[in-house]
Amino acid sequence: MFYWDHAASTPPYEDVIRTIAEVMEQHYGNPSSMHQWGEDSSRLIKHAREVCSRALDVKPSEIIFTSGATEGNNLAIKGATLQYMNRGKHLITTQIEHASVYESFQQLQQWGFEVTFLPVDSQGCVDPASIREAIRKDTVLVSIMHVNNEIGAIQPIEAIGDMIKRCNPRTIFHVDGVQGFGKLPVDLTKWQVDLYTLSAHKFRGPKGIGLLYVREGLKLTPILTGGAQESGLRAGTENVPLIVALAKAMRKASEQQESFNSNVSTMRDQIHTTIQEIKGLKLHSHDGSAPHIVHFSYPGMKSEVLLHTLEEQGILVSTRSACSSKQSEPSRVLLSMGLSIEEASSGIRISMGDMHTEDELRLLQQALRISVEQLEPLQRGRMG
Ligand code: PLP
Repeated sequence: MFYWDHAASTPPYEDVIRTIAEVMEQHYGNPSSMHQWGEDSSRLIKHAREVCSRALDVKPSEIIFTSGATEGNNLAIKGATLQYMNRGKHLITTQIEHASVYESFQQLQQWGFEVTFLPVDSQGCVDPASIREAIRKDTVLVSIMHVNNEIGAIQPIEAIGDMIKRCNPRTIFHVDGVQGFGKLPVDLTKWQVDLYTLSAHKFRGPKGIGLLYVREGLKLTPILTGGAQESGLRAGTENVPLIVALAKAMRKASEQQESFNSNVSTMRDQIHTTIQEIKGLKLHSHDGSAPHIVHFSYPGMKSEVLLHTLEEQGILVSTRSACSSKQSEPSRVLLSMGLSIEEASSGIRISMGDMHTEDELRLLQQALRISVEQLEPLQRGRMG
């Protein structure tokens, strides 16, 4: 099988896997324990926090370890909104956020907050001017993702941060950075970001661990209570092996960001060319979108059918983000971009790591051609 679903999850680095086993075997003391073994574990977390903070060019005290980006996004959005609700009841996000962001806002709506879900253009991008129109004196928080997980659209985060802070300096800016880190440059200070979420399994770390950057001075109402861990923001015994592994993967991903970007962009361009050559396919990602995500649709053919036809040839891809791939409705992201229901029901995402060989790429291109050839009579019947 050939794996082309790296935006859903990437294979952990071998030394990251070894690190997890080593820390589990050798450092199982509870970091909150006062004896030496507890202190050993606590020191490992301290070091990991320093490594992560260096990768983001922020202070160690601004890093909060979480169980992943779903938790990080929930903590950032609900934690900041509840903490600062004396400032107002208005919130802004987009129509194309990951479910962990989108549904956090839906829950806040049920709790009485007013949410503006900004639209995107045909390339999946938010216009910073739409923030100027939407933002108010009582806007507590704006949350915009860096890179969309389905179509790879890159949001103009710096311009958005600038717009938010010029319109209302008190409005908190949260960025879901999950699909951008390790692929594109990140500059939280320049972007004027207050809260930034990451997940390790998107950059060759383990699943079940992530972090939330919380700008110094910003307070959050914790979502998980019952312990003083993580500066009181995230109760529960720390997962020391995964925290150490996260830091290791993060350092590598940040050091290798430029080479990752140039390796996968070249491959992405070649896949784009193939898709454009195949009659019936419609490309939605482009040269200016994230280097590791290719997205296209085969209008008239349900995504799952093409996915399984590709799988029969040993190619593993995705219909959309892993979290919502089992839903049967058309993609919310594609509909927001103005695509028809037919197009939004037939999307396929190919996402890359930087370890694919030329032969693997050729097999993928061949499998795409063969699959569409096989399905064409069926598709013609449906479209006709
Ligand atoms: N945000 C984005 C943009 C994602 O792509 C994902 C995972 O697919 C998440 C958040 C959730 O991450 P996690 O799997 O760590 O909960």
